[in-house]
Amino acid sequence: MSTYIPADLRRQVRADAGRRCGYCLSPEMLMGIPLEIEHILPEVAGGLTVRENLWRACHSCNKFKGGRSEFTDPVTNTLVPLFNPRFQRWREHFQWSSEGTLIIGLTPCGRATIEALQMNNEYIVEARHLWVIASWHPPAN
Ligand SMILES: [Zn+2]
Repeated sequence: MSTYIPADLRRQVRADAGRRCGYCLSPEMLMGIPLEIEHILPEVAGGLTVRENLWRACHSCNKFKGGRSEFTDPVTNTLVPLFNPRFQRWREHFQWSSEGTLIIGLTPCGRATIEALQMNNEYIVEARHLWVIASWHPPAN
């Protein structure tokens, strides 16, 4: 079980992170379950329960991330740190495919994070397809 996170700290992280998953950008309002507060550097890797190391992620990204802090970039075949949604910029590491359903990695970090967190798994891609039809996706910024 993960460390208890005090209510004040949870509120602060919610205010910092907003209402989208820090990794796949899925909006909380379309996911049907609340985003989870996650340790950016996992506790098993020494990550602390402090504001700087906490962000919000969807259940799927959080589950697949688990205790990982790094993963292999499939293009360069090197082990790289996973994306840090608090201190790195999403658009420097990822972009949406032209039809808006797939996340494309632009950097080793972006590609490794997509692989590790299975950010293009068939379920989320199907959901994104419907969100695109409804003009709810991809996010404008
Ligand atoms: Zn996600």
